[in-house]
Amino acid sequence: MVKEVRTRFAPSPTGDLHVGNIRTALFDWAYARHTGGKLIFRIEDTDRERVTDEYIAAAIETLKWLGITWDEGPEVGGPHGPYLQSQRLDIYAHWAKKFLDNGDAYNCYCSTEELEARREAQRAANLAPGYDGACRDLSADHIANYVAQGRKPVLRMRMPDGETKFTDVIRGEVIFDHKFVPDFVLARADGSPLYTLAVAVDDVLMKITHVLRGEDLLSSTPRQIRVYQAMGVAPEDFPVFAHLPFVMGQDNTKLSKRNGEVSVAWYREQGFLPEAICNYLALLGWSPGDDRENISMKELTELFTVDRVNSSPARFDMKKLEAINGDKIRALTIDDFLERAFHLFLKQASSLALTMKRR
Ligand code: GLU
Repeated sequence: MVKEVRTRFAPSPTGDLHVGNIRTALFDWAYARHTGGKLIFRIEDTDRERVTDEYIAAAIETLKWLGITWDEGPEVGGPHGPYLQSQRLDIYAHWAKKFLDNGDAYNCYCSTEELEARREAQRAANLAPGYDGACRDLSADHIANYVAQGRKPVLRMRMPDGETKFTDVIRGEVIFDHKFVPDFVLARADGSPLYTLAVAVDDVLMKITHVLRGEDLLSSTPRQIRVYQAMGVAPEDFPVFAHLPFVMGQDNTKLSKRNGEVSVAWYREQGFLPEAICNYLALLGWSPGDDRENISMKELTELFTVDRVNSSPARFDMKKLEAINGDKIRALTIDDFLERAFHLFLKQASSLALTMKRR
């Protein structure tokens, strides 16, 4: 039986969604629509100091404005909810305890100062810095001693010797030698989960079949695979990974506030049309096999396949986006143009009125 495709967009909104986030969302959406599958929208908000309700609301609004629809997630619900990680803490605690009980994970009592000192020594000896396994096999006496000192442990996953090998649809075969993947923290001393635990547990429980996401997360994949294994997931049921290449600025370094405008909200305020942003981002690192510059959302869903995503970084070109935006504006009917321009005009006028009032 062919499994239904289930992709997910899982941002941690610590600000407005940026161009890179949206390209990821767009590809996940296009792939789900192309295959007749589902897009799951999950908010990764375990860090509630940085991810606020306002940013979450803004992320939802931005996706809606762009026409990126989801089948499960905030406002829509679904059988695998809740879709905000902050509402799933008992689920992560359940799995953390399970991993501890069956020996996949262990309590680590090392203090931050001790870890830092040992990392410093590793650096001085030219060794790759990382956890050295000091608490892997503590004796009962040793543990009792730490507990008596009032130390509160974090939970670490035991990373076996060997390697993790998987096929990334965009990158081909990827191998991580575990020498460079030390035992990692799953939960903090207060029991709160770290990204690697929450993301992997959710991808399994939400039955995600395809993880299309940014290349910056490639190095976390072996840790996530380790969590799947500890959960008892069979290798054939692991999601397929596709790590999308970076979006670069004009100076050929990763696009950021420093070398370009990244916030999608900013483009909206400037009067860029959602269809122009989607058109431009769709063709940033992906092509349907010809050199078209114009693509509609409908065509994107018809033509999108992951194997046509380029593996090399794509350069964000503001001039090109402006040109596409101009084409899309010229293609609007007069009524549509007036309606959209009117909204923009109202917004500009009210902010102008506010500035004048302040003067
Ligand atoms: N929440 C993560 C982030 O915004 C992405 C998670 C993922 O796609 O695996 O960086």
